[in-house]
Amino acid sequence: MSKIIVQKFGGTSVGSVERIDAVAEIIKNASKSNYIIVVVSAMGGETNKLIKLSKHFSEDPDKREFDALVSTGETVSSALLAMALHSKGIKAKSYSASQIAMKTTNTFSKAKILDVNAKKILEVVKDNTIPIITGFQGITEGGDVTTLGRGGSDTTAVAIAAQVGALRCDIYTDVDGIFTTDPKIVSNAKKLDSITMEEMLELAGQGAKVMQTRAVEFANKYNVPVRVLSSFNEGNGTLITLKDESMENALVSGIAFQKDQIKFTLHGVGDVPGTAFRILGPISDAEVEVDVIVQNVSVDGKTDFTFTVSSEDEDTVKRVLENVKNDISFKELIVDSNIAKVSLVGVGMRSQAGVASKAFKALSENDVNIQIICTSEIKITMVVEKDLVDKTVEVLHKEFELEK
Ligand code: ASP
Ligand code: MG
Repeated sequence: MSKIIVQKFGGTSVGSVERIDAVAEIIKNASKSNYIIVVVSAMGGETNKLIKLSKHFSEDPDKREFDALVSTGETVSSALLAMALHSKGIKAKSYSASQIAMKTTNTFSKAKILDVNAKKILEVVKDNTIPIITGFQGITEGGDVTTLGRGGSDTTAVAIAAQVGALRCDIYTDVDGIFTTDPKIVSNAKKLDSITMEEMLELAGQGAKVMQTRAVEFANKYNVPVRVLSSFNEGNGTLITLKDESMENALVSGIAFQKDQIKFTLHGVGDVPGTAFRILGPISDAEVEVDVIVQNVSVDGKTDFTFTVSSEDEDTVKRVLENVKNDISFKELIVDSNIAKVSLVGVGMRSQAGVASKAFKALSENDVNIQIICTSEIKITMVVEKDLVDKTVEVLHKEFELEK
């Protein structure tokens, strides 16, 4: 017994006292062969309830108080889980972000982790006590409570795993692992035994919802092997491997999609140096993440500049574009929210040509019009009409025989 494993339990996994009891059993078993550090989410639905409550006095509550409120769900679940472990004769102690100095930036609701007191956590572990740490929470230099964004407990777990040099970070959830695509859309989607970190980064970034994207980025940056598995069913889950160990790579490993997208097109902008920067600079300054970016060949010195963002950023982007209007001239701004994005991801694409044409052929035979195509080394992203997204995913899943 020497190695540390960080176990993170999501909201549904700790959604009731019965579930917390089941989770305590998982921890108890795991603690027989490894040192365990636990990170918990709030009990399922709690964060949403707190967010709703926060809007009672104002639609736009004070950001500091908002985080102070919505971070409390994790405080509840961590203490309860410690109690459940006590009832099984296991030593455990709950810890809030401030107790382990989980330092973050002061961008409330989107805070980024700066540092965490690994020594403190390791002292608890050495005392044969299981630390149960609140996910999602952080603390600023000045001592204010912050949160890491929805799904942020994943990032807490990976960050802690990185800092304590854990063998692995196990993300327990309500699905059996990472699937070739969402089984709600394609019923014969298959669970993957393993996937490369690179592929997982792309899938998470393109809308696969199993893990917060930032958590995958963290795992990649600090070389933390991650496993995604169910706290409900037995099974090995999906291992996200740091190095690509398989001999033969799948052409396509998974299909991710995102429906909450919006497309902005600046029609007839000048094709001169600095245009892209003048459009996207202020958007990134407003902390909006831009996804697909396309600029076409210009005709008579004018071109179209298109990009997509998450629907929730619609108002911010509109406001920013209103402000930059004086800096850049364009004929027309076209905003289209009736779109969705579908991405094929696979490290095998790197060495084999023809993936794109195979996909396009299948889609053309099924009357799916592709509005934008954009590719990277291991990814092909297509923007389609929102109503066609399920069909697009189904057609591609079948075409690449991902069910096999
Ligand atoms: N409880 C937070 C949320 O629902 C954080 C998490 O579950 O990861 O977003
Ligand atoms: Mg979650």
